[in-house]
Amino acid sequence: MRLSQFFLPTLKEVPSEAQIVSHQLMLRAGMIRQSSAGIYSWLPLGHRVLRKIEQIVREEQDAAGAQELLMPTIQPADIWRESGRYDDYGKEMLRITDRHDRDMLYGPTNEELITEIVKGSIKSYRDLPKLLYHIQWKFRDEVRPRFGVMRGREFLMKDSYSFDLDFQGARRAYNKMFVTYLRTYARMGLKAIPMKADTGPIGGDLSHEFIILADTGESQVFCDRDLIEHDVLADTVDLEGDLQPTVDAWTTRYAATDEMHDQTRFEAEVPTERRVTARGIEVGHIFYFGTKYSRAMGAMVASQDGAQIPLEMGSYGIGVSRLVGAIIEASHDENGIVWPAQVAPFDIGLINLKSGDADCDRAAAGLYASFKLSGKDVLYDDTDGRAGAKFANMDLIGLPFQVVVGPRGLKSGVVEIKNRATGQRYELSPDSALAHLTG
Ligand code: ATP
Ligand code: MG
Repeated sequence: MRLSQFFLPTLKEVPSEAQIVSHQLMLRAGMIRQSSAGIYSWLPLGHRVLRKIEQIVREEQDAAGAQELLMPTIQPADIWRESGRYDDYGKEMLRITDRHDRDMLYGPTNEELITEIVKGSIKSYRDLPKLLYHIQWKFRDEVRPRFGVMRGREFLMKDSYSFDLDFQGARRAYNKMFVTYLRTYARMGLKAIPMKADTGPIGGDLSHEFIILADTGESQVFCDRDLIEHDVLADTVDLEGDLQPTVDAWTTRYAATDEMHDQTRFEAEVPTERRVTARGIEVGHIFYFGTKYSRAMGAMVASQDGAQIPLEMGSYGIGVSRLVGAIIEASHDENGIVWPAQVAPFDIGLINLKSGDADCDRAAAGLYASFKLSGKDVLYDDTDGRAGAKFANMDLIGLPFQVVVGPRGLKSGVVEIKNRATGQRYELSPDSALAHLTG
């Protein structure tokens, strides 16, 4: 993409409405624009990141054997009356009436709708287990939308739902999602720590929030330092094998959000020097809820002995749009965003320091074409701005590598590569630069 053609409305000033750094940087880098409180348009640069995150989430869900479908954003109120949540959900639910006076709503989550779908189609234990997911916009009329996409009213969520015959099956599905979540966040360059979360009236211990530590997080969290240093899983985990030991390795150490925190246990189980009290961002939540919805909505299957029993269910959410902000909170410096390579909107920022100069244009255009040919996404700054402004802009949008083509370097046959994360710079011939960044 040539910068001269790209829609990248960056801002020089720090927008006064943004309180935290990720929100400021997303506005300054031209990633989003607010349309109304907690509702954003995703501009091309932000949209690229959102799609990359979404794709990692999708690939890991698929690898776990979850099947993607797509449910609508607008749902009928009736199924929520059946589950009993229509009144409980209160003002967070955006309620709509259609032209025939039917009560509709913009879905804040999808337990009811997926149960309704499955109930008509899964009749026997032979059809189980099933793990279904979608990646769809949700609406929750949050009391205090803030921090940009971190607590929006409209936000993109991946939500999966598991259907099993018995508790053992449901636990297997839960463990699969637990491990899949660890892998998903690790692929985005994040360390998310599973923390014990409230199970409500269901009881048991099958509810975990996945938390990224960050000073601007909305949750107060307490955990054992060992978890922060704990290795995220190797690629070789067999998702069909017994995952209980892996899950236990994470859950036996102390980690809880303030709702579930027990100071006495914390002090008894964790030595002083390993006690971490910090702020965190919730980027996912997995939850076993048994037969809560299947009973209420009559989602029954025939068991091996012919009895009609309610489906065992769980739901598993990832805040896809929140992750964009969370990654920036975890990865930025005083000059701007520092994208982990896997979610970066482009792989390389190519800067032509002297557009209009025949040698610079030829060298830069050559590199641009070669990078593209080797499958790299390149943002090519072919504009005639000042060098300082170009550098500042590239640092702000945070692409992993910058390749700088200038008249002085070219005279000695080199271009400069800068690693955005480390700040390290080195000079290489254009051919070596190409080999270095594509090899
Ligand atoms: P929170 O405690 O932050 O309100 P929640 O418990 O309501 O979260 P879930 O219903 O479990 O969240 O939704 C799954 C995921 O969706 C959350 O882990 C979070 O990452 C994301 N999410 C929830 N609410 C929002 C929001 N208002 N804006 C952006 N992402 C959200
Ligand atoms: Mg909430």
